[in-house]
Amino acid sequence: MNKYCMIVRDLIDYYGLEGLEGETLAYVKEHISACEECRNYIPNNKVKQLMTEDEALNKEDEKLLKKIRRLFYAGCIAVILFITWISVWSILWSR
Ligand SMILES: [Zn+2]
Repeated sequence: MNKYCMIVRDLIDYYGLEGLEGETLAYVKEHISACEECRNYIPNNKVKQLMTEDEALNKEDEKLLKKIRRLFYAGCIAVILFITWISVWSILWSR
């Protein structure tokens, strides 16, 4: 247990997870997701509550990322097709 664990646990003991806000909450969440000891320290249902919010957010992010990736690939294919078309066209015309 390092000093960050102690800070996080003090915060949770004193305020409860519900009482944390903004940057403090973000800090605690970040620490908990990285620190198994602190995850075990918090009652299970509370961890779940905290993490499901995060997971829901991550899933939204993933969806968005997939969309962006698909758009990116579609763009690449379009560019490649265009270049191929242009080069074929210019070869045909140079004869
Ligand atoms: Zn910790």
